[in-house]
Amino acid sequence: MEHNIKGLIYKVESKDFYVLNDDDTEVRCSLRGRLKKEHSLKKRKLKTLDIVVVGDIVEYSLNDDGTGVIEGVVDRENYISRKAPKLKGAGNRGERLEQIIAANIDNLFIVTSIHQPEFNNRVLDRIIVTGESEHLNVYIIINKSDLDEFELIPEWKEFYEEIGYTVFAVDAHSGDGIEELKDTMAGTKSLFWGQSGVGKSTILNKIAPELNFKTGEVSQWSSKGKHTTVTAIIKKIDNDTYIIDTPGIKEIEPFGIQEENLGFYFIEFTDYLEHCRFNTCTHNHEPGCAVREAVENGDITVERYESYLNMLDSIEDDMIF
Ligand code: GDP
Ligand code: ZN
Repeated sequence: MEHNIKGLIYKVESKDFYVLNDDDTEVRCSLRGRLKKEHSLKKRKLKTLDIVVVGDIVEYSLNDDGTGVIEGVVDRENYISRKAPKLKGAGNRGERLEQIIAANIDNLFIVTSIHQPEFNNRVLDRIIVTGESEHLNVYIIINKSDLDEFELIPEWKEFYEEIGYTVFAVDAHSGDGIEELKDTMAGTKSLFWGQSGVGKSTILNKIAPELNFKTGEVSQWSSKGKHTTVTAIIKKIDNDTYIIDTPGIKEIEPFGIQEENLGFYFIEFTDYLEHCRFNTCTHNHEPGCAVREAVENGDITVERYESYLNMLDSIEDDMIF
């Protein structure tokens, strides 16, 4: 038996954890019982359901039969998660548990389309908040530029670039914009997220045809399941470039964002936050709110402010059981 080998979890399927080694070999691992025990002892205090997730760096021992046993997990630099479906008995105050989709991510590429499905800035803003709250580099892709008959893409591109985001206009069929994506991803771990139908798989297949990303995959997410498997998967493109795909993950709602912090994740608000009269300002109704003043002056757009109010509302909803 070999000990203390380090590897990257690239796939999790129920109790099987698949590790990718530096030399590109792969090992199927199980979890050391001790890890499970530690987790269940801490469970009451833990908010997360997951011991080992896609993107984790783990230490494992290699059995003679070629399988491995995970002995430990390196502390996560960050992770992206969603609210798990409400579980019976999960917290008394109606708290929702956290389900980690993937860990140790550099970039979040949010894939949208301009048409079929229609571009939806509300959904986009929600995902941006998720990325900002974990300090990821957030990039926006607007796909299906070939369907942009009303030339809306240049307007949205300018809208988000004004705020500070890089926006890629892409036509995944012709390949327009794909090279720029590849340049930006090089040497990093990038998670791609998009509502189904926006063309995420088509884009990923253009980026790395040899990896066969599945198009039009049916969701493996079940609302009935107690703890359904989240099916993120990591694929290596070259030496230090990885794609984290999230097939079957329909929604990611930011988890654990406090009302009073939400404003920080709307990056163009940050200049104003400290000028609100009350330091507990939620920028909703309070007098002397610098954010609302900026909206009135046109320094913050009404669209983004409405997205903010929308999210603020849903944070409050979560607290009602
Ligand atoms: P996913 O659910 O986001 O992975 O979307 P898919 O990659 O499966 O694509 C959904 C549909 O959109 C498919 O019919 C694709 O052929 C189509 N599609 C993808 N990219 C483009 C594009 O740039 N332009 C057009 N017109 N259709 C696209
Ligand atoms: Zn305020």
